[in-house]
Amino acid sequence: KPFWNKNLSVKPWLENKQPVPAGEEYRVPNAAMEELIQEVSCISCGACLMDCESFAVNENFTGPAALAKAYRYTADPRDAQTKQRLGSYSEPNVIWDCTHCYECVQQCPKGVAPLEQILKLRKMAVDAGYTHNAGTRHADAFAESVRDSGRLNELTLLPKSLGLFNIFAQLQTLPGAFNLIRAGKLPPLIHHAIPHVQRIKDIFKKIGGRFK
Ligand code: SF4
Ligand code: SF4
Repeated sequence: KPFWNKNLSVKPWLENKQPVPAGEEYRVPNAAMEELIQEVSCISCGACLMDCESFAVNENFTGPAALAKAYRYTADPRDAQTKQRLGSYSEPNVIWDCTHCYECVQQCPKGVAPLEQILKLRKMAVDAGYTHNAGTRHADAFAESVRDSGRLNELTLLPKSLGLFNIFAQLQTLPGAFNLIRAGKLPPLIHHAIPHVQRIKDIFKKIGGRFK
């Protein structure tokens, strides 16, 4: 039952654009539907969910199979709810809670590659303006650190992901920080850039997008 409840939570059905074409079916370009063949191949076997590392520690995570279905309907040109879908998928326990472990890609017998569909949903959500969430902040902090110094600044990654002005969440991380200090594993307080970091910046510029 949890598998089906997760599927239902992403509304795996079309919300048709209106008005419905009079006397005929909706027509969409072949290329747009070919893009969805991979997700339509899902046989709901559940293998991906059973091996999902995020689901193993958080039973509320929507999971790979449901999110592959979510992409299938979000990217369908006949659907009228794209923006609303992306907004709800940007909430906690959905697209940003995947940890990129790749288990779902490896386990799927039909080549659905749920992780790839989750990454597409993330891009669509960011492009649609859904950026005020921990997942986007985490991705931004990660990319900015690599762009500016050539390496990851582990000291600032968590505070930036939580939101620098989210005092309550910041305070909750203090016990973990003290544990790191006690274990001698606190990242360096001064973060140094790698030599020739300008080359990294040039790569970001060339790629373009939000971090150029
Ligand atoms: S890549 Fe993400 S969705 Fe796929 S199994 Fe890992 S945590 Fe789960
Ligand atoms: S493993 Fe593949 S076919 Fe099975 S439920 Fe997951 S996505 Fe669908």
